[in-house]
Amino acid sequence: MDIATQLKQITSELPIGTRLVAISKTKTPDQIMEAYRAGQRVFGENKVQELVPKYEQLPKDIEWHLVGHLQTNKVKYISNFIRLIHSVDSLSLLIEINKQGRKLNRTINCLLQVYIAEEETKFGLNEQELLDLLTSPSFKNAEHIKILGLMGMASFTDDTNQVQQEFRHLYAIFKNLKSTVFKDDNDFKELSMGMSSDYKIAIEEGSTMVRVGSNIFGERNYNQP
Ligand SMILES: *Cc1c(COP(=O)(O)O)cnc(C)c1O
Repeated sequence: MDIATQLKQITSELPIGTRLVAISKTKTPDQIMEAYRAGQRVFGENKVQELVPKYEQLPKDIEWHLVGHLQTNKVKYISNFIRLIHSVDSLSLLIEINKQGRKLNRTINCLLQVYIAEEETKFGLNEQELLDLLTSPSFKNAEHIKILGLMGMASFTDDTNQVQQEFRHLYAIFKNLKSTVFKDDNDFKELSMGMSSDYKIAIEEGSTMVRVGSNIFGERNYNQP
């Protein structure tokens, strides 16, 4: 099936209030333009060095999101155009994002990535680290960042029950923060969870942003530039 058909199919499955971030990593500008012409405007990449040339080359009404691990020394390359960073996983990264935002007099939208999977390899904050970050004075003084919500990745497994439990856990953390730390903050409302293999489960568990790549563009070819 072609990109436009896939997009239409996935979009039709989303409840009101849930947005699709089309993950275009390893895909060419031509493939991204195919999705763009079908109406998609929100795209996500996981590497800064891939995102920047695509941003420069492609239409400026695209809303670019970063979903992959971000190194502190690379924040400056995306800080002028990035619309949402899904993958903030440390206070030092947050402080650097704030610093770059201040230079540009711009507020940079962020999600805090929470570690919910069983696997050891995934990035993210555990619950204690999340609380430590949210209560630290440097977080409170970071006026050029805006925390819009949380992001998480479930374990890579066929066990749908486990995936569901992990998403449910993230939703509980989200709800808890919403009624405590972010009680008076209406901007704290996004929960980024769900990829090609598990976005349907994520929607049922309260996702507001699904990050879907291969279901739109086909399997990734890592040999592509
Ligand atoms: C690649 C990627 C996705 C999309 O994965 P698919 O399985 O292709 O849908 C979502 N989130 C992150 C963080 C990714 O790196």
